[in-house]
Amino acid sequence: MKRNIILMGPPGAGKGTLAKKLMSLGFAHISTGDMFRKAIKAGTALGQLAEQFIKRGDLVPDDVTIGIVKERLSQDDCAQGFLLDGFPRTLVQAEALEELTKEINRPIETVVNLDCNEKELVRRIAGRRICKVCGAPYHIETLKPKIDGICDLCSGLLYQRNDDNEEALKVRLDHYNHQTKPLLDFYQARGLLHHFNSLVSSEALFDEIAQFLKS
Ligand code: AMP
Repeated sequence: MKRNIILMGPPGAGKGTLAKKLMSLGFAHISTGDMFRKAIKAGTALGQLAEQFIKRGDLVPDDVTIGIVKERLSQDDCAQGFLLDGFPRTLVQAEALEELTKEINRPIETVVNLDCNEKELVRRIAGRRICKVCGAPYHIETLKPKIDGICDLCSGLLYQRNDDNEEALKVRLDHYNHQTKPLLDFYQARGLLHHFNSLVSSEALFDEIAQFLKS
């Protein structure tokens, strides 16, 4: 079983949905986006700082982001294997992660990249809704809840992320193309990169990747 995984791909490719399903295999799910959203909700100093960047679609500064990942990765549950979702997003973060995983002796074993075209990303993000309570993802056309606006799993209210709008998405895609996409070369050079087509159902994608991780 491969452990210590990075999940890469543009915003809307399905990283969060896949990561939540992969948790059933025993991975600790580390989503920097979720950590920032939690801090914003709790009104902490980290949340107040991160919110300024997130609402515009900009990246939170590297030192802040690296700091929260460093703390999270050294926690006990990561010893069974972790799944990084949304980190690293810059070369500085990738280099820091390489150092950090060496220090704690938990090296990255594989990088899973989700391929998706831009038209589909925009469609997915525009229709994305998320449960306020448990974070379960929905889509207004392709993954509807049983009762409109209510989470099937916990009856929480569904909401639209405030960075899932056209303007912020444009900025996020720009950051992805210029700062994050070049990391594919970084991991290709280390022999860690594996591509998967995310234009399939979330169940089919989970089956394919779970099988790959177990091989
Ligand atoms: P996500 O939920 O992964 O789409 O992240 C939502 C937002 O959180 C991003 O658009 C960034 O503003 C911020 N963010 C998440 N992860 C990172 C990261 N690794 N580096 C910088 N900013 C991040």
